[in-house]
Amino acid sequence: MRIRSIVSVALGWLLLVPSLAAQQVEKDVDVRVDDLQSMGAAAVPMNDFVYRIEGEGAFFLINTSEGSVLVDTGTSLPQNEEQMRLVEEHATGPIRKVIVTHAHGDHSGGLPRFEEAIDAGEVEFVAHHRYGYMSRLQDDFLPYFKRRYHVLYPTRVDLGPEKPRPYWNMEPSRPVYPGSDYEFELGGVKFVVIAPENGGEGEDGILVWLPESRILFTGDLFGTLYPMFPNLYTVRGEKYRDPLDYIDALDLVLDLEPETIAHSHFRNAEGEAYIQASVTKMRDAVQYMWDELKKGMNGGKTVWELMRDIQLPPELELSQGHGKVSWSVRAAWEIVAGWYYYDTIANLYHVPPTAIHDDLVDMVGGPDQLADRARRYLKQGKPLEAVRLLDVASGSPTRRVLETRIEAVGRLLEGAREGLGNYSEIGLLEADLRASREKLDALSKE
Ligand SMILES: [Zn+2]
Repeated sequence: MRIRSIVSVALGWLLLVPSLAAQQVEKDVDVRVDDLQSMGAAAVPMNDFVYRIEGEGAFFLINTSEGSVLVDTGTSLPQNEEQMRLVEEHATGPIRKVIVTHAHGDHSGGLPRFEEAIDAGEVEFVAHHRYGYMSRLQDDFLPYFKRRYHVLYPTRVDLGPEKPRPYWNMEPSRPVYPGSDYEFELGGVKFVVIAPENGGEGEDGILVWLPESRILFTGDLFGTLYPMFPNLYTVRGEKYRDPLDYIDALDLVLDLEPETIAHSHFRNAEGEAYIQASVTKMRDAVQYMWDELKKGMNGGKTVWELMRDIQLPPELELSQGHGKVSWSVRAAWEIVAGWYYYDTIANLYHVPPTAIHDDLVDMVGGPDQLADRARRYLKQGKPLEAVRLLDVASGSPTRRVLETRIEAVGRLLEGAREGLGNYSEIGLLEADLRASREKLDALSKE
């Protein structure tokens, strides 16, 4: 890091600590987690030539004297109509380039409306060279992923027949490669498109830098919230994101010394000092996790112990509303060493632990015996052990098993809401509760 950055960091902490106490930042972030899906479309001017087009996935319109540039295209939801109407209203010339920061549907949703112009060479479609690969992964496995998404977002993802998603089948006409920035000038405005190696939410994340106004468009490099611990593993399902590459991407951001981070969700981050301090904190938090993982793995600890033990020290505490440290610990472990933990050779073969659950239930004298033992754990304040026992009985869901499960998962949910407020964790616990309640209802009707 350059000297200037070090000074900025020190200055940043001075500014950050009194003005935005950690508690305030976290609370602000938590409120916004629930708001993501209700963000209305709006065009918000950032200066005299850049607009933030607000919505569930915000994107940006940059006007120049020779036409306009879009950084992202907004959501794939019906809201995109309104977002694009705002672009038409505020664009001072034809759209000349569409830069998509990554292949997620809340950023690339509006891309198909430029397809013809892209094919005709009138609009340049700029993206990371891994954009096509990341799109294809989501597209090829969509039926599988949809079943998972449906658990997390039951009211938003239906399991009906899939409509084709053309934005996943478009290849950038100008791919950008790591180590080889794409610089261009349009109507007197300089642009630099930078492809970090594997940074942020997916390995196809890119950054767009306006050096003169020192605005950095980061897409989802930081995830949905800012600042937060990154989502290095997303339970809805995606490839693991490498902690060391993430750290490199954040160093790249620090070296640019941006004045504004135009972030795709909720709000921009403003002020060089604040940005240096908050980005440094996010980077250091991941570095801390990584160093602890190294120590733990080399010292012979198990993955489970490290999921429990690695916690951010108070000075590096960040929102875990989206990314979660313990899940990232496990993802990073598997990046380093893969899925075989040298725990039991049984895991080298296809017979799952559940194969002998019914035997266990028989041997202990029925599922209610397990439920009673689970209740004992609940009394000791150990809902996780209770859930493990109830999992053994899940093939024979009696009223007592289901009621005990509802109590155990209810406690976990309470803890998740009052604690980290991680919305994936909350979503999965709610789904588990729903399933138990439905089964209990069905039992009552029998
Ligand atoms: Zn996003």
